[in-house]
Amino acid sequence: MMINEDIVDAMIRIAKSARLHAYVPYSNCAIGACALTSDGTLYGGATVENASYGLSCCAERVAIYKAISDSKRRFDALAVVADTEDPYSPCGACCQVMVEFDIPEVILANLKGDIRVLMLEDLAPCAMRTKKNKKAEDKEEEKEKEDKEEE
Ligand SMILES: [Zn+2]
Repeated sequence: MMINEDIVDAMIRIAKSARLHAYVPYSNCAIGACALTSDGTLYGGATVENASYGLSCCAERVAIYKAISDSKRRFDALAVVADTEDPYSPCGACCQVMVEFDIPEVILANLKGDIRVLMLEDLAPCAMRTKKNKKAEDKEEEKEKEDKEEE
């Protein structure tokens, strides 16, 4: 599935505006993100840093966690924007969180308007998957198998 251009534009717009609220006194590197849930809701998020560096949270995770805490569990895509030369790519920790919530499509962008759309599988092909965080399609396949066995 590829999400349509208008939605991509809206996601990047929201990510850019969230970026303006980033709390980045240490890195001075503001990043914004936008998570698209399967019901079409858009959640913006910005980087939140901390004096204890390890406590900092990337914009991507902030956007995803905002959706989760609003009781959303299914996602279609995530966009991320930073002031970088090339479209900004999420870190490994954020990729792992995207795997956890099975976010299939990732839109990388920068302030110059460069956009790159990748499937999460291509961005993080070896991310950790367990029984609990399988891809939705694999879960469905498994359920079909179980239903057949019950018949
Ligand atoms: Zn990250």
